[in-house]
Amino acid sequence: MATVTEEQILAALAAIEDGDQGGDVVGLGMISGLQIRDGHVAFAIEVAPEEGAAKEPLRQSCEKAVHALPGVLSVSAVLTAHREVTGDRVAETGPVPAPSAGPGGPRPAPQGLPGITSIVAVASGKGGVGKSTTAVNLALGLAAAGRAVGILDADIYGPSIPRMLGIGGQPLSPDGSYLLPMQNHGVVCMSMGFLVPDDTATIWRGPMVMSALEQLLRDVKWGELDVLVVDLPPGTGDAHLTMAQRVPLSGAVIVSTPQDVALADARKGISMFEKVDVPVLGLIENMSYFVCPHCDERSEIFSHGGARREAERLGAEFLGEIPISLGIRETSDAGTPIVVHDPDCAEAQAFLRIAERVGEKIAAAEAESASQAPRIVVQ
Ligand code: ADP
Repeated sequence: MATVTEEQILAALAAIEDGDQGGDVVGLGMISGLQIRDGHVAFAIEVAPEEGAAKEPLRQSCEKAVHALPGVLSVSAVLTAHREVTGDRVAETGPVPAPSAGPGGPRPAPQGLPGITSIVAVASGKGGVGKSTTAVNLALGLAAAGRAVGILDADIYGPSIPRMLGIGGQPLSPDGSYLLPMQNHGVVCMSMGFLVPDDTATIWRGPMVMSALEQLLRDVKWGELDVLVVDLPPGTGDAHLTMAQRVPLSGAVIVSTPQDVALADARKGISMFEKVDVPVLGLIENMSYFVCPHCDERSEIFSHGGARREAERLGAEFLGEIPISLGIRETSDAGTPIVVHDPDCAEAQAFLRIAERVGEKIAAAEAESASQAPRIVVQ
């Protein structure tokens, strides 16, 4: 089968005009982050934040043009936007990523967040597998070992971290230019759930996702943190691309249930992180087995061991398995997760073992990055 090249893709995109600006999308420097792997193509189209939805037809035209090329199996184009930042904020948060140098030039490495040593993303291929539950217990486990920990609830489509941490109300903004994170159980937290009323349906377009996440990251006074745990939305989308391109992730942890159908989606997540050069720290199997609280009999409700096998197949680390249990569900719903509620029980111990291993892996990643040039390079 023909292999598509970067030149062919750019030539196809150069035929797409952005009517508003008068020029083609390549000539205008709107294309960035071009990735090609085995016929699968992904890139971002830089637009102004306020243009948002108006550029959807342009995005579709770009996808269509690339899809028509021989050797292209799939195309994923996302709209992204750079947020305008005033001089004052630049002084406070450090330099803002410069606009993309375009597909030919190098893209600047993502800027770190001042005061935050490591950032770990928790992701899953599909919803409902316990990603947020895992993110919260992982964060609390890292904090239990003495680290200063924050949680960013980047699951803007269904923010559940405030409920799981038992935090209500709204964050304070003492001078109107930044937000103070909320806190409970010894960790700080920021979530769109604090800012958007529960019953409001918000439709998120690519650029909005990006600026919302950038604000949650950069307009929050996180303070000095050893680790920021980021609970990503399920699947692979704008939020993931934003995180991978805008912040230096130490790595991603993938949560899956054992069945094939969940694992197939988890595989997509892993492949996406690999494409954007974010190390996959490992896989966690949630709802791995059930131990009857009355008779101790063990049942494998969703089968068992799939994530471990998948990790082996992909050469990723298997970080551990978490049972399905009433205790985990009830404590999350009640706002005092199991790791805090009953740290000695078997379920909490399973989370704590995983937190310990993740802690070791991020420490190793930090040591490595301190001795190397930036690891995240997006074409
Ligand atoms: P996701 O973030 O993947 O959508 P959540 O973490 O919100 O999933 O979990 C979905 C539901 O499943 C929640 O009600 C949560 O309490 C429950 N849950 C998650 N993991 C477990 C588990 N290991 N045992 C029992 N219930 C769980």
